[in-house]
This record gives sequence, structure tokens and C-alpha cells, in this order.
Amino acid sequence: MNRFPLSALVAVAVLVLSSCVTDGSGPDDPADIVFIDGKVLTADDAIPEAEAVAVRGQRILAVGSTEEILRHAGPDTRVVELGDRVVAPGFIEGHGHYIRLGESKLILDLSATETWREMVDIVADAVLQAEPGSWIEGHGWHQERWRDVPQPAVDGVPLHTSLSAVSPNNPVFLTHASGHAAFANARAMELAGIGRSTADPEGGTIVRDASGAATGLLRENADALVGSVLAEARAGRSEADRQTRFRLVVQLAGQEALSKGVTTFHDAGSDFATIEGLREMAAAGYLPVRLYVMVRFETNDAMRERLPDYRMVGFGDNHLTVRSIKRQIDGALGSHGAWMLDPYADMNTTGLAVEPPADIAETAAIALRHDFQLNTHAIGDRANREVLSIYRQTFDLASEQDPGRLRWRIEHAQHVHPDDVEQFADMGIIASMQGVHATSDAPWVFRRLGPQRAESGAYLWRTFMDAGVLVTNGTDVPVEDISPMASFYSSVVRKDRDGNDFFPGQRMTREEALKSYTINNAYAAFEESLKGSVTPGKLADLVVLDRDIMTVGDDDLLQTRVDMTLVGGEVRFERPR
Ligand SMILES: [Zn+2]
Repeated sequence: MNRFPLSALVAVAVLVLSSCVTDGSGPDDPADIVFIDGKVLTADDAIPEAEAVAVRGQRILAVGSTEEILRHAGPDTRVVELGDRVVAPGFIEGHGHYIRLGESKLILDLSATETWREMVDIVADAVLQAEPGSWIEGHGWHQERWRDVPQPAVDGVPLHTSLSAVSPNNPVFLTHASGHAAFANARAMELAGIGRSTADPEGGTIVRDASGAATGLLRENADALVGSVLAEARAGRSEADRQTRFRLVVQLAGQEALSKGVTTFHDAGSDFATIEGLREMAAAGYLPVRLYVMVRFETNDAMRERLPDYRMVGFGDNHLTVRSIKRQIDGALGSHGAWMLDPYADMNTTGLAVEPPADIAETAAIALRHDFQLNTHAIGDRANREVLSIYRQTFDLASEQDPGRLRWRIEHAQHVHPDDVEQFADMGIIASMQGVHATSDAPWVFRRLGPQRAESGAYLWRTFMDAGVLVTNGTDVPVEDISPMASFYSSVVRKDRDGNDFFPGQRMTREEALKSYTINNAYAAFEESLKGSVTPGKLADLVVLDRDIMTVGDDDLLQTRVDMTLVGGEVRFERPR
């Protein structure tokens, strides 16, 4: 096909078309856009190979050879020559935090800081520009990424003193990259009433030094002590201000997603008020990407009463679906918050349950009654076992014969006792995992768990898939960057940040990794007949990548760039070439 210039091809195609108008795909009904002369990664086993695809309206019209696809081109059809590029199904972020992603664009980004001092300097700069007494917010720091830690420090994190010194009057609240801890300065702790005599809240720890004074580090639920004061300050903004900020946050998150090739986003948790805001935006056609939102931060009583009001499938032209609930049973491994069967190798604790299992069991019953999917965060092997047991009891009580049809999920399923894998398969529980976490966490997985538990239970992609468990993929953004390529790379390469192998026996093939990010995520949202593969009739949610991620070298994967992102046939992102 490359022997002919493109214009000649189109001219030939138009000639051919004008002589076969009767088959319904003639010039009367041409494609809006065609991608030709390249490769289509279909993620559809029925179409193993294709070099072109045609889109008409919101749907995929045809997939096939360039010759076949050009038959659908009319004079106004946009023709995109792929060359070395590929078309793939739009990526589906399987687990992220949409609003936090948008908000992260409006606060200090600390994810690249390599020392505590650097973080303090960034805050000091922000203080210079801040209104007197206003909050300074940041996110994304991680003590495991610091080159050194100034002493005195507790749990690898310095005391608040130097941070408080650069910001004596502005309260500072810096969220940990994991989202499972935060750091506050003296002013923020004062506003939150945190002192020597303040008790730890349930499921959280106010970290203290030897004298009993709070260091500034607030683990798990303890960060809400300061977070709620911050929320009050935000609530003081006018309604108009809040609306404007909300729309901005939704747009910023969407732009970020689209620029990385993400067309659908599974949001791991928004409350009813946020869902209401998203519903208004979806109704007005303002959602930049499709959202699959899990209900979060609502009590069982509130859910019992109000879930039916918020159940929606494919609302706003397939832009908003709400039919699932998110709960969280434990914390993260990095902060020793993951709930383990046996104590950590580097701290005398087994982690903790952050939400009472009995309360989650009640949610499970409510979910079943209202036909909502339940997606529970579980990282530690004890946490996973507890959630499996809650799911099992719920299905038994309800005499559910075929739990697989409910497609309940465990979010992260990060450290699982090998004996429990079979239970996932048995109940059709989806392992909603994030490839890139393996790369990021590997350096401290050994320290936290020791080599034996790391090998037998950490990120068991291959073990799960071999047992017939559906594995999905994502990034937990803003814990990690939303780019699917980092997770894709981690899934197929299994190396830590320094390039060391991390139990390569658990690798996915590239085909499996692509499916984990597309059709598997679609299935995990009951949307596999609508999206997740390049199949005629499905929504034209597509991404054009600048290289063939099935064949380039491992190191090239991370350089992959997104050239175009289409949602429902509409080009919503295009990189200038
Ligand atoms: Zn999450």
C-alpha cells in the first residue's frame, strides 16, 4: 500500500465507492475518520490482525485492511495515515481518583522531591505568595524516595520543626503519595486541636516523638483531623466559587487523562454530592472522559436510603455510570498500614483495619440488595482474606448461586496468601490491580515483608491469570502518574525503579497487558459489549500511539507517546506533530 501516494488512494477509493452505493456504506454514508496503513491492536481475539479502522459517528464502523477501510471513505472523510503508529482501544484507567487528580493540578506537586529539604523549600516559596493565614496544600511526597533523612526523625520522616519554621502562620497540609498519610505543620495541627493529649482516632495514628509530641506525620484516618479543618475552610468559599473550582477540577483531570490516552476512568470513590455535580456536567455534555464512579464516603444508612437515586448506567451519552460501591479495609504497605497475617519484617506490627469489617459486611448486603457491585480496597494478605470471607458470607446468606455474575472486585489485591487465590477464581472476584505499583513498591516490599512473602504473595498477576482470575490494570492516580505506559511496562517487564528484576515469573505477555488495560477493565465495569476493544459496533474510543507497543524493545515502551485520543469518535486530544 505504501507504493501509492495517499491522495491517489483516496481518489481510487472514492471512484470505487461511487460505483457501489447500494451496499449502504457508499458515499451517502461515509466514515467520518479512517486510520489506514498501519496496525490496529484490536484486543479482540476475533480480529487478530488489522491495518485500518473506520469510524462513523460515535461508533467503530469497520476494521480490516487499508483497502477495505478506504471503501468507507468519502470526500469529507478525514484520513489518518498511521505508518509506524498503531491504533489501540482507548485505555481504561481501572482504579484512580478523578477529583483528586484534578485537584492535584491546583496544589503543590511534591512527587519529584528527593529530599525533605527540597519539600520544605517548595513550601517556603509558596508561603511567599500565599494570602496571610491561607492553607498551603501539596501532594505526592514519599519518604522512600528521599536520598537522606535529616535527624531527628520518626518512622523515616523528620519532625515538623523546619517546615513549621518556614510557614509559621499558614497552615500546611501535605498528602503522602500513597494517599494513606499526610504531614502537617504546627499551625495546621493547632487549628485541628492536635496536642499531646489528643487520642489517636479509630484506624489512624498521630505519630509522636519520644517526648509524646506529634511529629506532624498523620497516618491513615488521623489525617482527617486536619483534613476536616481544611474542608471547613474550603466550605467557606462562596457557592459560585466552589462550582467554578469543581468544573475546573473535572476539566483538568480530563485533560490529563486524554493526553495519556485514557478514555474511561474508574473513579475509586466519590460521595453523593460529587456524583450530583458530575451528573450535572454529564447532562450538559461537559465530561471530558467517560466515568465509572464508585460510591464512597457515605454511611450504610445513607446508602440504604439513597443508592437508588444515584444508580445510573450510561448516563449523558455513556459518560457516567454509577452502579458500584467502594470500601477500604486496610492501608498501604509503604506506611505499614496494610493488614498482614504475620508481622512486618521491619516493624513489630501487622498493620490495621481502617474500616471495621462488620461495617463492610453490612455494605455488602446493601450492595447486593440494590444490585450494586462492591469494590473493596485490600492490600495486605489478612485484608484480602477478610474481604474474601465477607464476600463469601454475603453470597451464602443471599443464596447467590453464581456470584461471578456480580463481578465484585478487590481493589489492589496486592499481597495475597497463595492459598487464597483459588477463592478469587471460585467466586469470580476480579483482581483490580495496578501494574506500576510493583515497580514503585518493589524496593521496600523486601524490607517490609522479607524475601519469602515477597515471592509467594506480591503482585501475583501470572498466578491469578493462570487460576482463571480476571486481572485489571490502572495506576491509582494521583498516587502514580496516570500514564498507562508505566503500568504496561511494569506488567510485562517486572523490574523495580533501578532496573532489577522483581519476580519475573509473574510477568504478563504484552497481549495480556493490553487486555488488562482495555477489555478486562471494561468487563470489570459491565461494559465489555460497549468498549474495550476495536470491534465494529463498539464506541469509537480509540488511541493512536506513536509506536507499536507489541514489538518495540522494553525500554522503548516508556517513551511511547499518545498522538491522538478519540472518545465516541470525537478527537479530544491531538498532539501537534
Ligand atoms: Zn485508590
